[in-house]
Amino acid sequence: MIKRNSSYNSKYLLYLVATPIGNLDDITFRSLKILNDADIIACEDTRNSAKLLNYFNIKNKKLVSIHEHNESSNSLQIIEQIKLGKKVCYISDAGYPIISDPGFILAKLCLENDIAISVIPGANALLNGLIGSNLPSDHFYFYGFLNSNKVKRKKQLESLKDFKETMIFYEAPHRIKDTLQDIKTVFKDDERKITIARELTKIHEEYIYMQLKDIDNLDYTTLKGEMVIIIEGNKNNDIKINHDELINEIKSLLKDEKLKNNEIAKSLSIKYHISKNEIYDLILSIKS
Ligand code: SAM
Repeated sequence: MIKRNSSYNSKYLLYLVATPIGNLDDITFRSLKILNDADIIACEDTRNSAKLLNYFNIKNKKLVSIHEHNESSNSLQIIEQIKLGKKVCYISDAGYPIISDPGFILAKLCLENDIAISVIPGANALLNGLIGSNLPSDHFYFYGFLNSNKVKRKKQLESLKDFKETMIFYEAPHRIKDTLQDIKTVFKDDERKITIARELTKIHEEYIYMQLKDIDNLDYTTLKGEMVIIIEGNKNNDIKINHDELINEIKSLLKDEKLKNNEIAKSLSIKYHISKNEIYDLILSIKS
């Protein structure tokens, strides 16, 4: 167990600061204070972040780039600087670092090097999209980006089509058409609701509320900018459970002595959409 105090007085601390997802006025007072106080601002793209800092008149900061391709090496440099007593923040291009953005390796290295982490809240596309989506949000599943390869993407969608809770995806504008068509083909559920949340917090912010059957009627020439896709969970109760497959899977998992019964029950209940107790009883009956 590791416990870290993330208070302002912690000796070694990395701030993970959320930045706006479009509308720069969404930055918080606290984020500005922390960025202003920093000796070093590590960022996904130094040119992008320089524009943001300029807008808020935050000057003379050392910027260090940490992106997908240099995260491991440059994070070590940041760890050293924190250990030397420097005040350091990390910001990605938009929203929260780490959420479909770099920052995870840096945060992991902090944990391994006695450095506390403090997350400074702010804008985030998936939550904005979900809250405006008019779809249930008591339980939801954020998937992030689907694979850019069509075959792999369809496989991922196949594994999600019976999922009962609201699902949220990020997508790039140049892939939106292919992805929406794959969703329609794989989910085969014309009545299912889907919301596209586009250009959130920006001038052209738009929510498109529709059903999967409407996907073919979308005007893709107007579907521009950044988008979050939010899809209703599967509300059909007639998902066919393949009992033979379930029993075989339980038997094979039981061979792994490290796995506990309740762990098996938990993971299979999600996969087969059956209650954990029901699977637990099945495990006991197989074992006896
Ligand atoms: N870290 C960010 C966050 O906390 O939301 C997400 C970064 S991810 C690389 C970029 C994706 O987020 C876009 O492809 C899009 O799906 C979504 N996104 C970001 N800004 C958005 C906006 N203003 N409107 C709609 N979607 C947005």
